[in-house]
Amino acid sequence: MATVYNWQLGRNMSYPYNAAFPQWQFAFVFNLNRCLGCQTCTMACKSTWTFARGQEQMWWNNVETKPYGGFPQHWDTKILKIIEDIAPGSAVWNPALAAPNAPYGVFNGYTIFEAAARAGINEQAVGYLPPDKEWRFPNIYEDAATGYAGKPGEFSNPTGTTLPTHSQWFFYLPRLCNHCQYPACVAACPRKAIYKRPEDGIVLIDQSRCRGYRKCIEQCPYKKPMYNPYTRISEKCIACYPRVEGKDPLTGNVPTETRCMSSCPGKIRYQSLAQLNADGTWLNNPASPLYYMVHVEKVALPLYPQFGTQPNGYYIPPRWVPRPYLLQMFGPEVDSAIAKYMAPSRELVAILQLFRASQKIIFTYKRIDGPLLYSTTINGQPWSLYNDTVIGYGKDGAEIVRVTVEEPVHTRDANYYYNSI
Ligand code: SF4
Ligand code: SF4
Repeated sequence: MATVYNWQLGRNMSYPYNAAFPQWQFAFVFNLNRCLGCQTCTMACKSTWTFARGQEQMWWNNVETKPYGGFPQHWDTKILKIIEDIAPGSAVWNPALAAPNAPYGVFNGYTIFEAAARAGINEQAVGYLPPDKEWRFPNIYEDAATGYAGKPGEFSNPTGTTLPTHSQWFFYLPRLCNHCQYPACVAACPRKAIYKRPEDGIVLIDQSRCRGYRKCIEQCPYKKPMYNPYTRISEKCIACYPRVEGKDPLTGNVPTETRCMSSCPGKIRYQSLAQLNADGTWLNNPASPLYYMVHVEKVALPLYPQFGTQPNGYYIPPRWVPRPYLLQMFGPEVDSAIAKYMAPSRELVAILQLFRASQKIIFTYKRIDGPLLYSTTINGQPWSLYNDTVIGYGKDGAEIVRVTVEEPVHTRDANYYYNSI
């Protein structure tokens, strides 16, 4: 095992290979406060990549309803329990040790790689192979809320429910491969068939090398590689790499968002590429919306960072969900991230306008001051909204999109009808 630095854990950790960092890293931010659960992203991916024989049960993008849903079922609680059984009570963060290279503090528990070593098992990481029945339903328990802990026979709260957290709750969790910095799938593969591309950090399975041993499925904690029983090899999300490379003529050959990102009607998704320094840290660039949300305001947090793969999917946590649940899922910055989202800074308001503003990938942005729209107080603090203009720029610095905080209102001419029968 090599020693690598995992900034999400704030410490070194063991990993089977030496660290090798891409120049740019595919990454995304999902705002869970806005997801509709419409599954448009799921179907956009399905109809693009997984409609062939043997791919029937594959959903590279899925949207599950938490806390009960999961694809495969129980994927997160099962791996959390495996680690907990090996090192009971150890999964603890020390946020007091937060530093520039440890923004969430230090995680004192065991990653999936370290838990395997502690348990003395002859594997690179702990994991399990889900049985077929757990792959049957991509949206099992969709829209199922937690029960109302009130009087027996009562199914809803007669007095309603209010923030900061709701007594009955659920939220949608859209997921795809996180194209991790330290991928467990890469570590697990005995054929060395999985690799991380140096140009954009996208993790791919070489279909000509894979022999279908399914070690990637067993050891990816997010369960994002999937087995094709017809070809008898494994497949996974390819991050729509032809689009990210700028090879889709639709957008004039510039880097373009993946199908799941660009189809999202809820505008919950922002996708870009993070520029990395030689040591794997993110280039300090507050003009990058990705950098700003992840590293400046820390309003977007990684999914289960404690697994240790350093995932590149980041989430703005849902504000109505009990905090212990979110803390386990997103780490110790949850309270701060929700507080910042509920009373967003002028910069964050601007960046949120860029979610799904264009199919072309936005790399940097600029905000131009606009007039005051209104002022109020949030949590006892004064807060104002301005009608700023936000400009998104592509990789080459060319302007892609220009939007304002207040959406313009278009009124249709009363005498003009698009539909006439
Ligand atoms: S989410 Fe899983 S499949 Fe994707 S890169 Fe990470 S370990 Fe590999
Ligand atoms: S398309 Fe967007 S809003 Fe709809 S389920 Fe997917 S992430 Fe949520």
